[in-house]
Amino acid sequence: MSGGLIFHDGGGAVARCTRCGAEAAGPCARCGAPVCGDCCVLTEGGARVWAICLACEDRGGRSLRRGWATVLGWIALPIAALALVVGLLAWLQSN
Ligand SMILES: [Zn+2]
Ligand SMILES: [Zn+2]
Repeated sequence: MSGGLIFHDGGGAVARCTRCGAEAAGPCARCGAPVCGDCCVLTEGGARVWAICLACEDRGGRSLRRGWATVLGWIALPIAALALVVGLLAWLQSN
């Protein structure tokens, strides 16, 4: 019972939630995968509310944190290196 589309006589298709297989409430705003109400979260993206799947929420949260860690690393590493050099020079001059 993995996702996919269930076809009816009329030719219409009912999208199935890609996570649990229940009838999907709508597509994820980020990846477009059909998700049911239980497998999505509502997130406010500016003026309107978006429904994104839990997988996208996980990815988004992690990537955001990783992005900040990268930025902090780029700022902190040169400062740490500079402090090391300054400390080394001060130590050399004191001898
Ligand atoms: Zn679901
Ligand atoms: Zn998604």
